[in-house]
Amino acid sequence: MKNIKLASVDGREPTVVRAGAASIGRGFAVIAGPCAVETEEQTLVTARAVKAAGADLLRGGAFKPRTSPYAFQGLGMAGLKILGQARAETGLPVVTEVLDPRDVSWVAEYADVLQIGTRNMQNFALLKEVGRAGKPVLLKRGMYSTLEEWLNCAEYILGEGNPNVVLCERGIRTFEQYTRNTLDLSAVPALRELTHLPVMVDPTHATGRPGLIGPMSRGALAVGADGIMVEVHNNPSEALCDAKQALTIDRFTDLMRGLRKLETFLAEAESEGEVTG
Ligand code: PEP
Ligand code: MN
Repeated sequence: MKNIKLASVDGREPTVVRAGAASIGRGFAVIAGPCAVETEEQTLVTARAVKAAGADLLRGGAFKPRTSPYAFQGLGMAGLKILGQARAETGLPVVTEVLDPRDVSWVAEYADVLQIGTRNMQNFALLKEVGRAGKPVLLKRGMYSTLEEWLNCAEYILGEGNPNVVLCERGIRTFEQYTRNTLDLSAVPALRELTHLPVMVDPTHATGRPGLIGPMSRGALAVGADGIMVEVHNNPSEALCDAKQALTIDRFTDLMRGLRKLETFLAEAESEGEVTG
């Protein structure tokens, strides 16, 4: 890809992005938490539970990019303060979305990782701003975007001097209606051929169905993703955002147990040369 310069693999070592005590790009990192920060209690209960289950980072939106302007838009500054409390209590670094270039500098004071959502992947003003923010960026794939368009967006961030970019496949729109989107798992090994940046998978937005999140998380691990991002809620049926797709705490805990076992199994098989071709 001729215009991909800073993101291209070009014999470079794989990038490892550090956020607090967590690393993305070494081992299998798990980002978990609610779609949106709703209340102090909801966020703290969920944060403690995902930490206990073995998550590496906490997610939660204080600014929500909603399809309808009448839907819950997030708590803004109050939400960021709650995330700060959750980090102080659990030690988990915080991943949170920023929607507007004017908010980047102050959101960056609360966030450990700035998330760019699918709807903003090609918001070039926003990409340049997070490129100057001095915090790692989780760049989600645009729901209608090719790998080349996506890598060009990473290039905008890297070009501003921020080397800490993580790509996150979150499903693309296809004719299929049963799943919310179609998870393009082939993007993971394809991106390995193209870029040194870490690649994560969000099986929650990709499928929109709790029953599919476990299998697709295990798939992500097996195809070599650097981790997953999963939505978890202490009471999914009451969630103000993306209620249908959130995992309960119990279900997330089971998922983690299985994933850590699979991780060990795959690492052993790989070191014995049993995973080839
Ligand atoms: C989210 O992570 O809550 C989100 C809005 O994701 P996406 O931008 O992938 O839809
Ligand atoms: Mn969501």
